[in-house]
Order: sequence, then C-alpha cells, then structure tokens
Amino acid sequence: MILGRFAPSPTGILHLGNLRTALASWLSARAAGGTWIIRMEDVDGPRCRRDFGEAQLRDLAALGLESDQPVIWQSERDAAYREALAALHAAGRLYACICTRKDLQLLASAPHAEDSLRPYPGRCRARAWEGWDQALRLRLPEGTVAWEDRVLGSQVDDPARLTGDPLLFRRDGCFAYHLAVVVDDGAQGVTEVVRGADLRPVTATQIRLQEALGQPRPAYAHLGLVVAPDGSRLGKRAGALGLEALAAKGVPVTEVLGWLGESLGCLDRPRACTAAELIGSFDWARVPTGEVRVPGAWT
Ligand code: GLU
Repeated sequence: MILGRFAPSPTGILHLGNLRTALASWLSARAAGGTWIIRMEDVDGPRCRRDFGEAQLRDLAALGLESDQPVIWQSERDAAYREALAALHAAGRLYACICTRKDLQLLASAPHAEDSLRPYPGRCRARAWEGWDQALRLRLPEGTVAWEDRVLGSQVDDPARLTGDPLLFRRDGCFAYHLAVVVDDGAQGVTEVVRGADLRPVTATQIRLQEALGQPRPAYAHLGLVVAPDGSRLGKRAGALGLEALAAKGVPVTEVLGWLGESLGCLDRPRACTAAELIGSFDWARVPTGEVRVPGAWT
C-alpha cells in the first residue's frame, strides 16, 4: 500500500512548483487508494517559521489536500534524530567534523569550485567523536547507487562524487536535513517520495543513509521544476506565484488546479476543476519529465 508524503520547509509561501509536487504526491497516493501525509520540515533554524507552516497548510487545504494523519513538525523530533545518530555511532558509521565554513570554501575552490554541489572531501574521516558540541558526518561506503525513478526512469549516481560524506548534525545543535528527512520517512512508513528534481542529486546519499539505518527504500519520483515563461529559474518571482497572489490577479484555485492537472498529464488542456476530479486520470507514465513553464499572464 502506498504511503505518500509532502514535506515542505516552512520558509515562505508555497509557490506553483511546491503546489505541483504536493498535488502529484496526493494524486499518486489517492489513485492507488493509499495514505497521504504532510510533514513540516522545520529543522533549519530561524529560516523556518510556524506561521509560514500554518499558511502552507491552509493553502494545501484550499486545494483540497489534507493530511490523513496529524502533521508532524520536525522541530519537535529531536529525540528520534538523537536516537538515530546514537545507532549510527554505535555501528561505527559517524565521525566528527571540525572543518569550518572557511575550510570548506578553500577545499572547494580547487577544480570543481563552479559546481553548485561541492562534495565534502572527507578531510576529518579519521576523527573520533567526542561529544554533542561537534558536527557529525556519515562515512559513505564506496560505489554507485541505482534506483528506478517514477518520473526520470533508471538513475545511477555516485554519492561520494555528488555530496561526499553528508553532514548529519551541526555544531550549533541542529540536526541536518538529510538526517531528519530519512529518519522521518522511515518512522512514518513512507513508501513514495515525490519531490522536485532539484533534490535528485541528494537521493543517492539519502539512500545510503537509509541503508545505514536499516530502513526500507521508498520509491522516488522527481518532478521537473516549474520555471518562468522564458524558461529561467523562478527565483524571487516564486513569491508572487502562491495561491493568494494568484487569486489577487483573478486566478481562482480551481483554475490553478486545472493548470497543475494539465502539467501533470491529467488533462489535455487546462480547465477549472477540483483535485478529486484529477484522481481518475493520474498516471506516472503521463507525467512529463522536463521543466514546466508558468503561464505568462500569471507572472
Ligand atoms: N523539505 C524539503 C524541501 O522543501 C523537501 C524534502 C523532500 O521532499 O525530501 O525542499
């Protein structure tokens, strides 16, 4: 049985890209008669705000997407993350990392400085962990990771080349995104992870972490990003592409749903509809792999 989830970070409003991800994960779970949950990923300190999260939940409800289970807020799950770190430590998989941001910048300014993802070169790998005032990384095994992506098809990545040993715990006491997302997907029994293609490059690393924790692997679906009408990244313009801003421009929720539905291959052309009306025609085989352009009139 499918248990799908939408896991936004409450750092702002949900824009069309986020709403498209939410709808796709909900449609996939509903079409299979499965369960769908929302999880608030608010581990990232001050950038995350409870009021943003509440507003996101209101927008999802306005689309007709409501969590089948109480919404979990990651900021309330420190005990589970600490327990996972203790288990990884007992298994000899962690090491303390004392590299400063500056060290990492210097290390990265060698050949691949232009890459947006800078793999950690493993400089602290031999360092023992002495306590919770130190940052922690997972020691990755060698080798590639393969998975069958519901949107992108067969994928093979080398996590050592993409991220290097991931940071799981920060010196300032914050649990890192990779740890929280993997621990919670496991704890909640998530079987299908639907998210934006911007997170595809960290998937192999997260699969390695699941393996280290002895968790089953969920299915993955990485959706093409929603971009501006000219194909450029939305960037700051994303803020103007939330439900409230669109409503102010005269675009009602039903019209947004029709556009999202068409962009996911459920409709031949956009028409006003509800989320429930799209369930019957949802099929991963019809979801396009590429980027999707926002209608010019909406930007
Ligand atoms: N919280 C992450 C984000 O909003 C998504 C994590 C995931 O779906 O795995 O970017």
